[in-house]
Formats: sequence, structure tokens, C-alpha cells
Amino acid sequence: MAKASEMNNGGPSGNGEPYFCKECKRNHTKGKIYKEHLKFAQFETDKKEIEEESESNEKELESEVEEIFEGLEEEEDITIELDEMEEELELDSDSDSDEVIINDANACVEAVKKLPGVGEATLKKLIKAGFSSLESIAYTPPKIIQNESGLGDKTTAKLVKASMSQLKIGFKSAEDVWAYRKNISRITTGSQELDDLFGGGIETGCVVEFFGEFRTGKTQIAHQLCVNVQLPEEDGGLNGNALYIDTEGTFRPERIIQMSEGLDLDHKKILKNIIFGRAYNSDHQILLTKEATNLIKEKNIKLIIVDSLIGHFRSEYVGRGTLAVRQQTINTHLHDLLRLTDIFPELCVIVTNQVQSKPDVFYGNPTVAAGGNIVAHGSTIRVYLRKGKGEQRVAKMIDAPHLPEGEAVFSITENGITD
Ligand code: ADP
Ligand code: MG
Repeated sequence: MAKASEMNNGGPSGNGEPYFCKECKRNHTKGKIYKEHLKFAQFETDKKEIEEESESNEKELESEVEEIFEGLEEEEDITIELDEMEEELELDSDSDSDEVIINDANACVEAVKKLPGVGEATLKKLIKAGFSSLESIAYTPPKIIQNESGLGDKTTAKLVKASMSQLKIGFKSAEDVWAYRKNISRITTGSQELDDLFGGGIETGCVVEFFGEFRTGKTQIAHQLCVNVQLPEEDGGLNGNALYIDTEGTFRPERIIQMSEGLDLDHKKILKNIIFGRAYNSDHQILLTKEATNLIKEKNIKLIIVDSLIGHFRSEYVGRGTLAVRQQTINTHLHDLLRLTDIFPELCVIVTNQVQSKPDVFYGNPTVAAGGNIVAHGSTIRVYLRKGKGEQRVAKMIDAPHLPEGEAVFSITENGITD
């Protein structure tokens, strides 16, 4: 059909018929504006097309909503299961260690409360926005604190300065850095070879990205680490809990149970110590990350999983025109995660990323993660996974500040990750 703007003489029939002007939002009948605004004319035929378009959009939306609800139902099942388990566990929980953790969280808040100029109202705003420790204030760009807490720029600047000076953030000797790095804690992956690739397990204080095609073991490694992080330090754990942000709906408590049993651990306790959040879209994913900040001390979280990092972004930002915004949003999200490891150096963040198959690469491995350079520059350690024979998988160290570019072979079994 012809567009109104393609017509040159009045209405659809070219007879000077009045029309509704989309620019002026009213009818034009005659005069100068009548001719000039023909390009904004909306005729009955146009309206019909718009109506049809919006109808088909509505249908698309409906099916999307249906899918989301299906996902919701699934997730509700898991939550109910976990809730029931939690109730059962209420009795045998380790109340002593819980108390220590709560005291720790309180101490952080107390320190914020003592900053100059922090009254009840300011404190409330800071905590609500997730800034409940000196570290979180010192390491976050003031603009972000301002935006999220609603505090003024002068107050924010003062708080950041005071937090930095209390934490003695500034230059230190390389010897001090070495003293710190020597004692860095690590989580075992369950496979000696894979641990060796990481220089003795996955270290805390950094973001690790596992990327690869589907079924290469990204989600399995994430599950295994949620179990292993709970082990005592002498067994390769961090004596801490895990927080799992699932964007794809692939978290399975069943696998956690199998993996716990493989290590002779009480699976009820292991499940109880994994905090689970299903992110339904990219905004929700970002929000969950921000909420995590407040839980880390309170729940003794030592491991955060985001599986997968950019799936939502990829499906929500479609088309070339949205690329810049998408990359910028992923970048901010990734920096939120990186900042968490600055604020909590005893924390380990794992993100997964499905590789984009590059149509122009026929040979070799498409070692380009979805999200492109943004993710590559943001994550501190990047490991590429690919399939081997049967249950075997190969991990390749792609990028790490201090590790060689080696490879490791590991297996995915019913009991989890092993050599
Ligand atoms: P992705 O990289 O897409 O996240 P996953 O981590 O989910 O892939 O890995 C899926 C693979 O894990 C399966 O193809 C299978 O080889 C293995 N796997 C999953 N569950 C089990 C199990 N219960 N026993 C043995 N292997 C399993
Ligand atoms: Mg997966």
C-alpha cells in the first residue's frame, strides 16, 4: 500500500481530502499547513496497518509472557523444594557461626555509621542502595553512589574520601602486594588438572569467565564450585556459601545433591547454603547483582555465579542500532561484579558465556566470546572450554594476568567434575 508521504496531491485519492496530521495531532483541512504536513498525514489505510502491526506485536508479547510464566512455575517448584528442605534444616543449623557472620555484617554497618556526617537518614539511604561497608563506598564511583542512594554530590564526595582514608587506600610496596597474594585462598574445581591450570584452584578476589559452546561444562563447573566452596580450607574450599544468579533456568538442585554425595557431604546442608536467584531479564539480573552486595557479609558468601552473563542482553538488544547501548550496559554490569571483588577480596566471581559461532571461521576454534571485547577486557581470568572424547572436556587458559596459556583435560561425571 502507498504511504501518505509518497502522495503528492491531497488524500489517498489525490482530491484534497482532509487528513489527520501525526505531527500536529489534529486534522488538517486546508491552507498552507495542509500541503506542508502531507508527509505527516495518517489516512484510514495507514491506521489499519498500524493496528495490524500492533496486533501481531501483542501476540508475540503474549507468547513471550507465556514462556516467562512457564519458567516461573518451574522456578516456584524449585523454591518450594528448597523451602521445605530449609524448614527441615532449621533444627540442625550451625547457630554459632551464623552469629559470628551477623556480627561481622553489623561491624561493617557500624563503621559506615561512624563516618563524618552520617546520620540515621543518610545511613538508611546508603544501606538501601547496597553501600553497607566502607569498602563499598570507597571503591564505587561517586556518581553511582549518588544515583543509587539519592545523596547529594558533596555528601557523597565527603563519604568516599573519608572511607578511602580509613581504609588507607593508596600506594603500597610490591612487597606488600606479594605478602597479600601469597596467602590468597583458592577453591578446588574437583579436577587436579583443572586446578593446576589455575595455579592451584580458582583464586579469590577476581572474576573468572568460562566461555564455550553449549554442553561444554560451564553450568556443571558452576554447580561444582557451589559445593566445593563450602568445604573447609584444608579440603580445597573457603568455608563459605554460594550465591547463584541463573539467567537461563538451568540450575538443578538434583546435580548439587549428586555432587555433594560424590564428596560424602550432607546435601541438605549444601543446598541450604546456596542462595539462588533466577533472573528473568537483564534489568533483573543487574538488580540481583546489586542486591547481592548486601548479602555477602550477612550470608558469608564466598562465591557468586552468574550463569550466563550476557544471554539476556543478547536477546533483548537486537539489531545493529542497539549494539552500543548493549555493550555499555554489559560493561557497567561487569564492572559491578569486578567491584564486588575489590570490596570483598575473599570473594570469587564466576561468569559463564556462550560463544557466538563466527560464520567466517571454518577451521580452528571460535575463541571469541559473545559480548566481544567488553567481556574480554572486564574479566580478569578467561578460560575457553571445548568438548573432548565422551565425558572429557578441555579447558584452555586464554587470558590471565599471571598464568601461562596451558590446557587441561577434565571429566564431567555423575558425581561432578573430576580428572
Ligand atoms: P553448558 O556449557 O552449556 O553450561 P553444561 O555445563 O550444562 O553445559 O554441561 C552439560 C553436560 O554435562 C552434558 O552434556 C553432560 O555431558 C554432562 N552432564 C550433565 N549432567 C550429568 C550427569 N548427571 N551425569 C553425567 N554427566 C552429566
Ligand atoms: Mg549452561
